[in-house]
Amino acid sequence: MYYGFDMGGTKIELGVFDADLQRIWQKRVPTPREDYQQLLATLRDLTFEADAFCGQKGMVGIGIPGLPNDDDGTVFTANVPAAMGQKLPHDLAELIGREVRIDNDANCFALSEAWDEEFRHYPTVLGIILGTGVGGGLIVDGKVVSGRNYIAGEFGHFRLPVDALEVLGRDIPRVPCGCGHQGCIENYISGRGFEWMYAHFYQQHLPAQQIIAHYQSGEPQAVAHVERFMDVLAICLGNLLTIIDPHLVVIGGGLSNFEAIYQELPQRLPAHLLRVAKLPRIEKARYGDAGGVRGAAFLNLVNREK
Ligand SMILES: [Zn+2]
Repeated sequence: MYYGFDMGGTKIELGVFDADLQRIWQKRVPTPREDYQQLLATLRDLTFEADAFCGQKGMVGIGIPGLPNDDDGTVFTANVPAAMGQKLPHDLAELIGREVRIDNDANCFALSEAWDEEFRHYPTVLGIILGTGVGGGLIVDGKVVSGRNYIAGEFGHFRLPVDALEVLGRDIPRVPCGCGHQGCIENYISGRGFEWMYAHFYQQHLPAQQIIAHYQSGEPQAVAHVERFMDVLAICLGNLLTIIDPHLVVIGGGLSNFEAIYQELPQRLPAHLLRVAKLPRIEKARYGDAGGVRGAAFLNLVNREK
């Protein structure tokens, strides 16, 4: 059995998956945000509850909104203050008597999609989250590529490529990013960036859904905005494809529901790739909110053939 914890700022969800990777049990509880011992006890109790349900000890994975630090075993979790700076995998492993695997939630999202029945034959899968921010993860042969710092795939913090400046104008403001830099692509191609760009060019603050509704009814300003956005998205994604050359790109997050992306990107991408490059398959994420527990559970599939 594979147990996956999706640890968020407000709730912890545990999903239990059988050998066929089907979810057979789940439970969701509020996250103890401030008390580390209480947080550990919550994770322990859920694990033992799942053991009782399964009649065996499952393997445990945790997806966190943050970054593990392999050098000292601590985790960085701004949204879960109780776990911040704690040796969470080690401490939980002691409590539940088994190894605990941990990774960031964007990597878990990508891993979940990569193990979809229809997707799992692709050797290289790039997962991209276009939500409030931009996150992502890279999966090779069914395993997360975490890198030195678990930030492989965090391309939201690429700075705007020079081709994007041609589209947006060289005087486009370098928006301050949450990471401390300025002009990271997250601030332009996320859902928030989609709205910011509209406000920048048209001096009008509209929610993304409303802009999309105007686009769908053919309103010229919204159409021009979406064209510009798709150009920038294709430029940013084109750079990634040239580095990674994935077989499959899966897009999640709120903007992934904007169906135009799946028509527009394939048309625009070739201009930003090497001439010999064949496009990867580009698909909308299939698991939505359930991707967190799935991916966390599948951190334990490391020795399994796809
Ligand atoms: Zn940034």
